[in-house]
Formats: sequence, C-alpha cells, structure tokens
Amino acid sequence: MLLLGHIGLTAFVSSMLYLPILGGVIGVLIPDIIDKGLFVLGYSPCGRFLAHSVFFFPLAGIVAYAITRNKKFAIAVALGALLHLVEDMHDNVPFLFPMKYYTFFDTCEEFKVSFTPYVITTEIIGGLILVSMSAFNSKFVKLRKLIWMKIFRIVG
Ligand SMILES: [Zn+2]
Repeated sequence: MLLLGHIGLTAFVSSMLYLPILGGVIGVLIPDIIDKGLFVLGYSPCGRFLAHSVFFFPLAGIVAYAITRNKKFAIAVALGALLHLVEDMHDNVPFLFPMKYYTFFDTCEEFKVSFTPYVITTEIIGGLILVSMSAFNSKFVKLRKLIWMKIFRIVG
C-alpha cells in the first residue's frame, strides 16, 4: 500500500474509534519512514524490517506517550503502526522479526513501486476517504454516531 491508502484507511479507522486522526496518521507513516530510511542509508537489508514487526507498534505507542503524555494520541500512534502492517499484508511483512528470520531479506533490491490492482484500488479508496472525510465532515460525524448507536443496540 502507498501513501494515500495508508493515510486514508488509518484516518477513517482512527476517526471511527474517536482517536486523534493526526496520531493515527503519524503512526501509520512511521514504519515506512524508519525501515525505508534505514534501507536507503544501508542499515537495513530491506524496506520492511524492524518497524514492520508486531513488536514495534507497542513501542511506537510508548514513545508517543513519553513525548506527548496524551493517552489517546499514543493509542492512535500505536494503532496506526499496527494498521500499517495489516495494510501491507498484500506483500512480505516480517511480522515476527527478530524472533524469526525472513528469507525475503536476502533478495531485497532497490525500491520499485509496482502498481498492482491492489495498490491502485487502495490508493483510490484512501484518496476518496480523505476527500469525503474533509468535504462531508459533519455527515461523517453523524454516520459514525449512527454506526456506534447501532452496534451498542445490537450488543446491549
Ligand atoms: Zn510498509
């Protein structure tokens, strides 16, 4: 998944959970910034490495809380970093690194963005989500309230 897909889907989920959208967006961008940054600098074998493991998202939340002292913001950052892994699942993700070694590390080459149907579809959906959340914010807030009321009515 590329930028629009990551940001759009995470902004939507963060908003649905009443979490700060900015925290979710920062959290969803961090794994690629860290791992692809390390890869470009030659410190990582692949663009998906330490920050693409399940051990990273709690750490991201802890660091966010240490910096902001805001629980909801820290939870949003952790959620964003976790959602990044889920959104990247169409390709290799080293979920359990460093507990497990992944052979795709050995064959990683330079970055190439391949516009597969998945990537194109998620970019379009992410872009549409961002545009509609911005343009119809009040309707989106009403929709969110309606969905949660229905869920609580079903559960309770
Ligand atoms: Zn990624």
